[in-house]
Amino acid sequence: MSSQNILVWFRNDLRSHDCETLYRASQEAKQTGANVFPLYCFDPAHFKETAFGFAKTGAFRTKFLIESVAALRDSLRSLNSDLIVRFGNPDQVLPELAQQLEVSSIYYHAEVTTEEKNLEKKLRAILKTQKISFKSFWGSTLIHRDDLPCKIENLPELFTHFRKQVEANLTVRKPFSTPERLPALPENIDIGEIPNFNQLGVCEPEPCDRAVLQFKGGEAEAFQRLKHYFWDSDRLQVYKETRNGMLYADDSSKFSPWLSLGCLSPRYVYEQVQAYEGDRVANDSTYWLIFELLWRDYFRFVAAKHGDKLFYRSGLRQLDLPWKQDWKRFEIWQAGNTGYPLVDANMRELAATGFMSNRGRQNVASFLTKNLGIDWRMGAEWFESLLIDYDPCSNWGNWNYTAGIGNDGRDFRFFNINKQANDYDPQGKYVKHWLPELAEIPAGKVHQPWQLLPVEQKRFNVRLGVDYPNPIVDLFASAKAIERLMKS
Ligand SMILES: Cc1cc2nc3c(=O)[nH]c(=O)nc-3n(C[C@H](O)[C@H](O)[C@H](O)COP(=O)(O)OP(=O)(O)OC[C@H]3O[C@@H](n4cnc5c(N)ncnc54)[C@H](O)[C@@H]3O)c2cc1C
Repeated sequence: MSSQNILVWFRNDLRSHDCETLYRASQEAKQTGANVFPLYCFDPAHFKETAFGFAKTGAFRTKFLIESVAALRDSLRSLNSDLIVRFGNPDQVLPELAQQLEVSSIYYHAEVTTEEKNLEKKLRAILKTQKISFKSFWGSTLIHRDDLPCKIENLPELFTHFRKQVEANLTVRKPFSTPERLPALPENIDIGEIPNFNQLGVCEPEPCDRAVLQFKGGEAEAFQRLKHYFWDSDRLQVYKETRNGMLYADDSSKFSPWLSLGCLSPRYVYEQVQAYEGDRVANDSTYWLIFELLWRDYFRFVAAKHGDKLFYRSGLRQLDLPWKQDWKRFEIWQAGNTGYPLVDANMRELAATGFMSNRGRQNVASFLTKNLGIDWRMGAEWFESLLIDYDPCSNWGNWNYTAGIGNDGRDFRFFNINKQANDYDPQGKYVKHWLPELAEIPAGKVHQPWQLLPVEQKRFNVRLGVDYPNPIVDLFASAKAIERLMKS
């Protein structure tokens, strides 16, 4: 065996396209005749509990992860190689495997958040003693870290400033091509089984036929979704107008789960948008999809700049606010029983499927923090547990933003749930989809069932306080009270 063997450590980059680690390793192997060992390590730390006691990786994301790892194995097999899979602490698994396989280098994509960076640091120290080079690459964002117009420490605190700086000289690198062929793994290697739900200590999720989309992990599925959304159904050209919809699969791209686990590269999406603009149409919608990917980038760079602060109660702005840990009300929010149909429908969708639209997320997060005054970290952790597309930077960055302790310079703001419901679900179709008990209430009344007279309740077959709850708080009075509390 050559001593220049390279281990490619896959993390949140579960793809063979635009994968610099794999590309570089394959190039070097071609020159040196060395072996390339692709590895994915299921980390038990990811299956523990969050600080507030939720499963860190819940059923939906676990399923998506298992599927994505299996799909990566398929991709690598089609390239003549395979994926070695282990379940154990990466700081033990990697050094042991590296030694056993006589590896001289490990290539990996760098992460920005605390737990991931701590692991990198620990590994670096161990591998140094083994004289193994531990080389990091950057591959998670649209804009490469080294192409930013400023140093990370000077990153603007407002997205608009960041966007303007970036757009003044937009540089998106070309995706790395998929290696044509990788060296075959030696036959005596134990490639390992992909762990099942049981082994990971997670219950398999129930399929839900009401889900907005049946998400399935892996890069082939991601490509299929992109092909459908851009090319087959031509929805990209109306993205800006439809993206706030909550009910239909094609209201928005639904790329987020694949982007979060790295099954889909943002640079590949960019390349496809450009092809679409050349071939079909370039308009506000095609621009807006890239605009949203810049939000994603922004939160990643924010996390790189601020480190741990993202997860502190006081948030990025280090504001010591009197958040409450009111579990009774929190559980009402979690279960979708607040009496506000827009909030409840979204929370029930999340619990049943692991997905919620961006519009929904903004509303439920605003309600938890600005109407109930509940510790925003409880909401962020609940999302972390359930979201199929959970990404620490986007999740905690958006929660910071909504709670008013992040990258939003404006004063106390809250979502007017009643107005939002009428604007984004005028027919009430979305809330009725998730709250069948409201099915017979006409569109004009369904978002405010508390206003129904007893005779109307009878006519529409819903008993308030029995079939559907009365509002947990008054929308405006509660927001006023929380504002006063936060400013006291
Ligand atoms: C409280 C809260 C928590 C969130 N948590 C997450 C999370 O854990 N993971 C996650 O990927 N997104 C998160 N988002 C952002 C956003 O809601 C989702 O990315 C989006 O709903 C995914 O649907 P889509 O792929 O159809 O989005 P599209 O509208 O099609 O957007 C395309 C892509 O742009 C990116 N994007 C869009 N909006 C945002 C945004 N506000 N912030 C960052 N990236 C964005 C996503 O990668 C998305 O896939 C959160 C938003 C809020 C308000």
